[in-house]
Amino acid sequence: MAETTIEKRPYKDFSRGVHSAGKVVKAQLELTYKCNLHCVHCYTDPYNSAEYFPRELQTSEIKRIIDELADYGVLWLSFSGGEALKRKDFFEIYDYAFKKGFVLVIFTNGTCFTPAVIERLKAQPPFFIDVSCHSVREEAFDRFTQVPGSFRKFMDGMELLRRSGLPFRLKTKAMNWNKDEIPEIRKYVQSFNVEFGFTTSLSPRLNGDVSSLEHRLAPADIKELETREDIWKNDEESCAVSRGRLGAPSDALYRCGCGTDTVHISAWGELGTCTLEYESRASLRTFSVREAVEKVFNEIKSLRFSSESACGTCEIHGFCERSPTAIRRQTGDREQPDAYRCDVALDRAERLTKTTLEHPLAARRNS
Ligand code: SF4
Ligand code: SF4
Repeated sequence: MAETTIEKRPYKDFSRGVHSAGKVVKAQLELTYKCNLHCVHCYTDPYNSAEYFPRELQTSEIKRIIDELADYGVLWLSFSGGEALKRKDFFEIYDYAFKKGFVLVIFTNGTCFTPAVIERLKAQPPFFIDVSCHSVREEAFDRFTQVPGSFRKFMDGMELLRRSGLPFRLKTKAMNWNKDEIPEIRKYVQSFNVEFGFTTSLSPRLNGDVSSLEHRLAPADIKELETREDIWKNDEESCAVSRGRLGAPSDALYRCGCGTDTVHISAWGELGTCTLEYESRASLRTFSVREAVEKVFNEIKSLRFSSESACGTCEIHGFCERSPTAIRRQTGDREQPDAYRCDVALDRAERLTKTTLEHPLAARRNS
């Protein structure tokens, strides 16, 4: 029998090739809004309460969705929350997806690792584990999570992870309360031989509460921090910014990666295009994955600015993290520009293109 050889390719080339094929290849499944922490910036925390848990997807529903994602050609599957490891059936779901052959990623706050959890993961390792790390100071960490003792659990969990040999990365959100800690956080992250990076974007909460935005860095602080740390975004949340170039004005409401290769499924089974976007969703309790993708992607692609918004003529939108859902929750109108995001985007655009540009709201301010 003739021997079959499979061509070996660097992972980056493989990933780029699959992502550019114009198909949905990546899914993020929010397994639960349940979490042992209550971080002050958290967008899911309003639903981290017993009264909401009965609405969450049941094990059998999740398995059916996993089957459909596999049949649809999805390769990368992330489990997030809330805290995914707080689901009692986490390993039943994880093992099910592992056997299907997905490239698996687990998002976690790092406080739920025990020797037993680590051993289960070592038996069938994920592609990587993505751990949030927003503070390395005990008092600040526990104040931010609103759970005394959480810092100790995080440190213990990270030591277990360090010794496990499991692949992981740490991600940091720079905010006004931890900005002075960034050098310490970087040092801690690098102690694991893991690359340090941070994002700065915060969103309103899922129930529309905007108090989470109080923890945002001022635009001047973002400039100072990004310049000092010599960092540019590579986080998947920042798909708009990662394009990092001046773009032709467009009246499309979504000019980022929404509606291309990724789906997000909420703990209540609503399929959308991104973790933070809720302008178009379809329930997987009513629609199949295939039907939901078709419905939501068509809606997202057809959305246009219908009013005179500075965003519709903006040339720096490629540097802007503006989100229609976030601005709708902030102002009631998803077409409005967000002055805060304009300031941040302008600074990034000028820094990265080494050009002096006009502020996108200049005309409005001068009139
Ligand atoms: S650990 Fe994550 S899910 Fe839990 S409260 Fe904090 S931000 Fe929210
Ligand atoms: S929010 Fe400001 S920077 Fe962003 S697209 Fe709108 S006008 Fe441009």
